[in-house]
Amino acid sequence: MSTKPSQKISLVTGGAGFLASHLTDRLLAEGHRVIGIDNFITGSQDNIAHLAGNENYRFIKQDVTEYLFIDEPLDYVWHFASPASPIDYLEHPIPTLKVGSLGTHNALGLAKAKKAAFIIASTSECYGDPLVHPQTEDYWGNVNPIGPRGVYDEAKRFAEAITMAYHRYHHVNTHIVRIFNTYGPRMRLRDGRVVPAFIGEALTGAPITIFGDGSQTRSFCYVSDLIDGIYRLMLSDFHEPVNIGNPREMTIREFAEQIIKITGSHSTIETHPLPVDDPKVRKPDITRARKLLGWEPKVTFEEGIVKTIDYFRPRV
Ligand code: NAD
Ligand code: UDP
Repeated sequence: MSTKPSQKISLVTGGAGFLASHLTDRLLAEGHRVIGIDNFITGSQDNIAHLAGNENYRFIKQDVTEYLFIDEPLDYVWHFASPASPIDYLEHPIPTLKVGSLGTHNALGLAKAKKAAFIIASTSECYGDPLVHPQTEDYWGNVNPIGPRGVYDEAKRFAEAITMAYHRYHHVNTHIVRIFNTYGPRMRLRDGRVVPAFIGEALTGAPITIFGDGSQTRSFCYVSDLIDGIYRLMLSDFHEPVNIGNPREMTIREFAEQIIKITGSHSTIETHPLPVDDPKVRKPDITRARKLLGWEPKVTFEEGIVKTIDYFRPRV
């Protein structure tokens, strides 16, 4: 891999994950050279297999909680490494806390040393089980720090705090994106998140497993829209958190019914206990992203979900 003088160089942590692999494709399309780092704790080689032989791409297998040494200049650090699905972070509570804290510290230290711009993939989980609806960035959240989800929520809240500290005290050009539920190709079929779970169940005719009574809400953003918002945020001069997500809100029961209808499945609906601290509502207020970035989602739920179902169909 050789760099042309004007070519931007991006480091993407968690590079073999769902979102970061799409981000990598976008960066390569924008002409960047990309270095991906991942330890495969929840990611997959399959997500980056198509990049083999690409002279603008390099992969390093490493845990980002260990010291990061990169022997070349960097323009951007995109810090996406972290287990992200509730079953993943419940299975890996300590690695989740470590990647949000030590991993973010290392990624920020690298950005500072290289004078690179930095972005942390934060989350709507920072709002916990929200008492403000829809969620605006100035809401501080309602998080149970010692509940099972606390390992993820508090790691991300720490990550936001250290990111602001590096901005304020070290003058690093940092950005914070609060990502709301995002879906699309390259999610793991069995990562436990509701989109692959319901699609997998519908395509195999298994019962659809609704947790609780299904009245809790989520708002689903298609991956290409999310990546576009994040790309714009990195190029902006805004340093406080920005929500990126799709404000179209639906109940989980409605989501199940849509999946059954669109797949033409004969699956029945089955209810299971609601996980501890499962947020009852979630919907981004995207006024800030609209004003600052001129961004809003373009892909409708109907378009995005069909593309995602088509991706999973041969994989179930
Ligand atoms: P993912 O599990 O597909 O990707 C995360 C990647 O990080 C994986 O490839 C994993 O192996 C890697 N990773 C984890 N710990 C690591 C470590 N210590 N060192 C190196 N690599 C490590 O999940 P995703 O959905 O693509 O999420 C990516 C990021 O976006 C995460 O930080 C997540 O918290 C955030 N996010 C995602 C969503 C969403 O809806 N997908 C919502 C909010 C926030
Ligand atoms: N959910 C569900 N059945 C499943 C998986 C998830 O009813 O098989 C529910 C879950 O309880 C939550 C919502 O769907 O209310 C979204 O869950 P997900 O794991 O996708 O992410 P979260 O938004 O909770 O982080």
